[in-house]
Amino acid sequence: MSLTEQAAAAAQIPPQGVRGPVAAEAILRRQAQRESAARTYARSLPIVPVRARGLTIEGADGRRYLDCLSGAGTLALGHNHPVVLEAIRGVLDSGAPLHVLDLATPVKDAFTTELFANLPAGLAADARIQFCGPAGTDAVEAALKLVRVATGRSGLLAFAGAYHGMTAGALEASGGATDVRVTRLPYPQDHRCPFGVGGAEGARLSAAWTESLLDDPKGGVPAPAGMLVEPVQGEGGVHPAPDDWLRRMREITESRGIPLIADEVQTGVGRTGAFWGVDHSGVVPDVMVLSKAIGGSLPLAVIVYRSELDVWAPGAHAGTFRGNQLAMAAGTATLAYVRRNGLAERAAELGGRMLTALRGLAADRPCIGDVRGRGLMLGVEIVDPETGAAAPALAAAIRRDCLDRGLIVELGGRHGAVVRLLPPLTLTDEQATAVLDRLADAIPAAAH
Ligand code: PMP
Repeated sequence: MSLTEQAAAAAQIPPQGVRGPVAAEAILRRQAQRESAARTYARSLPIVPVRARGLTIEGADGRRYLDCLSGAGTLALGHNHPVVLEAIRGVLDSGAPLHVLDLATPVKDAFTTELFANLPAGLAADARIQFCGPAGTDAVEAALKLVRVATGRSGLLAFAGAYHGMTAGALEASGGATDVRVTRLPYPQDHRCPFGVGGAEGARLSAAWTESLLDDPKGGVPAPAGMLVEPVQGEGGVHPAPDDWLRRMREITESRGIPLIADEVQTGVGRTGAFWGVDHSGVVPDVMVLSKAIGGSLPLAVIVYRSELDVWAPGAHAGTFRGNQLAMAAGTATLAYVRRNGLAERAAELGGRMLTALRGLAADRPCIGDVRGRGLMLGVEIVDPETGAAAPALAAAIRRDCLDRGLIVELGGRHGAVVRLLPPLTLTDEQATAVLDRLADAIPAAAH
């Protein structure tokens, strides 16, 4: 056995010869037998990825797929981008330790410098960073803890339809929860506007409701330690926050001494057509929660916040895996690449064109109830053409049909009826056309 074969055997990677439809089916069968009932993407995407580059994933069965899920929005540069691989190899070849808890290293120093260089200027001037356990949800926990310690209050303002993660605090803050400490506020949306009007008027009413509730001594709002908001609700069904509304939320929180926490886990690093989702409105939050793309495809999560809030005690938010050097190097390379190559602007431009094309599709596909998005965070809401009600079964059929046509998409939204596109920011015009063509074909096929 060669060294490579030995390494592959040790890592249980099937050598080239054992790939193929039969091997893929056997792996999927073993997965279904051995993995948790709670597994998610694995159910709707029964593929066995063995190679990937850019937008493309190759399955063990030899089929190729255009990946518009991008690791749930993680892969800003697509799979295995050369600058990311080079950064990872650089650390591996240097002999640097891979695990260092939260100790200082040159790799971490470079990551922090690059991240701070990209933060909204009003925050960067006076920011602190806390490296968290490697998931977005852990950074959300850290943010909640930070503002609760700093304000001495325990309540939280969060929004209907929000998604912030799967650990206890993040889950409480998410739309489906009913925790008494969390006051649930309306998030503006045109389609199914909670006030029945949509547009600027719907957003104005959402803000007015928030303000009146906060100022009502009998409003039943536990004293809020912070307001947690996604600049675009992703899992909630791709709802971009109107800029004016976000600015109102900044005014409302600032004038009441309530820290504003922007959850940029999914919207960060160019995804929405600006480097951060909050940049569209010029809002400077007090805390930003970051994960996904900042690790350049590897696990990394941080919060950055105004130094004034930095009054928690040593160890207030600890965790073993806060020093992933490979993720920091991959993240530094990704942040720098997005900045130098203007990929946020590119996402705005290409995303705008895709949005227009998707709206064009809606004209003769009555099951498309709404098309919305910002940058390369796009959503197509699937409805029953007769009633206009969300149509999750049809959306799932479209996802399946897309997969058959070699296109990976995910579903989101309150009812799981929004087909979501989160392609890499490196998407070319030709690839965008291929993605739209496959989706355009899948929708009538599934509806039929
Ligand atoms: N916040 C937002 C806005 C997210 O989209 C997600 C994940 N989809 C999270 C937090 C949680 O991140 P993770 O899954 O890494 O815990």
